[in-house]
Amino acid sequence: MVLSSVLGFPRIGANREIKKAVEAYWGGKLPEAELLKVVAEVKKYNWTTIKAQGVDLIPSGEFTLYDHVLDHSVAFNAIPKRYQGHGLSLLDIFFAMGRGRQQGSVDVPACEMKKWFDSNYHFVVPEIFEGIDFKLNYNKALDEYKEAKAVGVTTRPVVLGPISYLALAKASREASAGYSPISALSKLLPVYEQLLSELKAAGVESVQIDEPVLVLDSAADLAQQYETAYAALSKVSPSIVLTTYFGRLGDNLSFVSKLPIAALHIDLDREPKQLAAVANAIKPTTLLLSLGLVSGRNIWKTDFAYASTLAEEAIAILGEQRVIVATSSSLLHTPVTLTNEKKLPLEQLDWFSFATEKAAEVATIAASVSKSTSPAVAAALAANKESIAKRRAFEKNSDDAVRKRVAAITPEMLNRQNPFSIRVKAQHEHLKLPKFPTTTIGSFPQTKEIRTARAKLGKKELTEAEYNEFIKKEIETVVRFQEKVGLDILVHGEPERNDMVQYFGEQLQGFVFTQNAWVQSYGSRYVRPPIICADVSRKGPMTVEWSSYAQSLTDKPMKGMLTGPVTILNWSFPRVDISREMQSKQLALALRDEVVDLEKAGISAIQVDEPAIREGLPLRRVDWDGYLKWAVDSFRLSTAGLTDKTQAHSHFCYSDFNDIFPSILALDADVISIEASKSDMKLLNAFKEFSYSNEIGPGVYDIHSPRVPSVEEIKERITGMLQLIPDNLLYINPDCGLKTRGWKETEAALANMVEAAKWARQTY
Ligand code: GLN
Ligand code: ZN
Repeated sequence: MVLSSVLGFPRIGANREIKKAVEAYWGGKLPEAELLKVVAEVKKYNWTTIKAQGVDLIPSGEFTLYDHVLDHSVAFNAIPKRYQGHGLSLLDIFFAMGRGRQQGSVDVPACEMKKWFDSNYHFVVPEIFEGIDFKLNYNKALDEYKEAKAVGVTTRPVVLGPISYLALAKASREASAGYSPISALSKLLPVYEQLLSELKAAGVESVQIDEPVLVLDSAADLAQQYETAYAALSKVSPSIVLTTYFGRLGDNLSFVSKLPIAALHIDLDREPKQLAAVANAIKPTTLLLSLGLVSGRNIWKTDFAYASTLAEEAIAILGEQRVIVATSSSLLHTPVTLTNEKKLPLEQLDWFSFATEKAAEVATIAASVSKSTSPAVAAALAANKESIAKRRAFEKNSDDAVRKRVAAITPEMLNRQNPFSIRVKAQHEHLKLPKFPTTTIGSFPQTKEIRTARAKLGKKELTEAEYNEFIKKEIETVVRFQEKVGLDILVHGEPERNDMVQYFGEQLQGFVFTQNAWVQSYGSRYVRPPIICADVSRKGPMTVEWSSYAQSLTDKPMKGMLTGPVTILNWSFPRVDISREMQSKQLALALRDEVVDLEKAGISAIQVDEPAIREGLPLRRVDWDGYLKWAVDSFRLSTAGLTDKTQAHSHFCYSDFNDIFPSILALDADVISIEASKSDMKLLNAFKEFSYSNEIGPGVYDIHSPRVPSVEEIKERITGMLQLIPDNLLYINPDCGLKTRGWKETEAALANMVEAAKWARQTY
């Protein structure tokens, strides 16, 4: 019998119970005891739901109220000093580390968050130093194992492995220079030994230890640590199922296959080609192989025939007893259940599979390759066959016009008419820009009134015409304010946009939207990524009306605002039947038409935002160039239709792109704005080093906080920036869009910013 397993489940609850309860707790509206009741209900729901789908190995311990990495830090007592001594409970310390705390006499910012591998999930970065006092504050894996047992479900506890935990950590402020968290391994291992031996004593048979770092190049340098750690842990632990996901083991297989573990899990959704190599490498051992066949990263129904072929290949090498059928990773990156989608046409509903449905899929595939004779399994297989055939037929309905256009992309289409050195002159003359032009990143405060109006439109309490009138008024307010405060390149403020991806997805051909397909981004923040299901094209102009209206109100240049192709792709669920490159190019062509239309309508600066370009980077260095080539080409394709005199702007809020710097140069945007106010200018060194010669606006203040920067402070930042950036290239702008800010601080901050720019014009 081939067993089935699920590596982890979404934490939000089928009806967003956890999000709501946690936010109510933060707001002081729900006592801790009530919060914990909701938590217990949702965990029970998760376990019993997975079990009801027929899954053999059910995860516990991976549930979290904020982030699972943060859970480990608090449990291991890796709590930075600034969160201690305030008399907070461990739960409140946990939340304070996740989101900061400003209450009573306590005022501490949140710990740093980083993207979890190549996903849009963010984890809270552990902070480690030489003197850290690791101890086990509580054993969450054990507690949840017992809790599940009490409601009748035997689970396989999940923990993040010690090497991945430390490899994802950073040295804390107390650490000495050059300190590397991995050197704390010998101190951390006893905590893991205690945790695992307590599991064993409680009768746990096997434990899932996640070591996703093993799919990175950098793991090659950690072979020694892996050997030491797992030699120690295997002595005291229940049998260890070591899980890797989001990529391939590659050369790391050479030491991983020798670790004293009971089973190894690999991601065959992302990297099906690694199967034979891994299966053959472990063949002489007694290791079980857990096959990640059901994607934890997308929402498409699994093709059982294809998945079974892979499973049978593994069985042929290892035998049935040594194979497990599993999800590729935790299902935390997928929505809870399809049954909450009431508005999707049946045809589309049949294409998808969310976490609950995916749990059923692993069970069915496992039963199928175990030669089950159950009629229910036979029926599920038949239904899957039919459904996949229908989807394939639909996917074949490609839009010939779009495909032809992509095939006909020529190198000239990627290039502006003239190099930047020529364009810049035409642009400054055309836009009549002063030295150190001031601008903003696009959005202005999304006020309660704006959200209410949008909700009313949705409920048909406002007519389209009434809503449009309302938006026009908002735009006018934003324009008048910018004129008054003295900004040089204005924006319309984006009041009409719910979300920078959804807004475009809704207007493009080829997207599907869900009602409830929420996926965790960080903490209690969830997003609902649109689904790309067919070839993408533009139905008609998307932003031209609003931008031209805004331009009609002023003589100052109005900047058009679009989300870039790579970002739309990365923040959607992409199709899996065609490449990401193809989807990105289709999006780029649609945006190219929009860019050209905006220029025709008299817009002379157009910003194409690409904040997600770094996030889409493959995990392995050898795969970078391929991605960066099409990502850069897509951006260029979308902007190169402009004539010389129109500026192409771009914006990156996550500006951790030192390692992909040449690609930022290659975008050939006329002006880029980047997040820089928090980065100690380190980032700007790269611009100097690479002699970046297009225009650039490093953010002069942080928009993530309501704090108003003083004129002096901004002057200082400008002075600092001018050490590294030539004065003829510098723009002055905030770090990012202002949508999450209130009007009061926005007005004050921008007034100070303009003041500082005026000073700079006189001084330099
Ligand atoms: N133009 C967008 C805004 O200002 C950019 C948002 C982003 O970079 N994430 O809101
Ligand atoms: Zn931004």
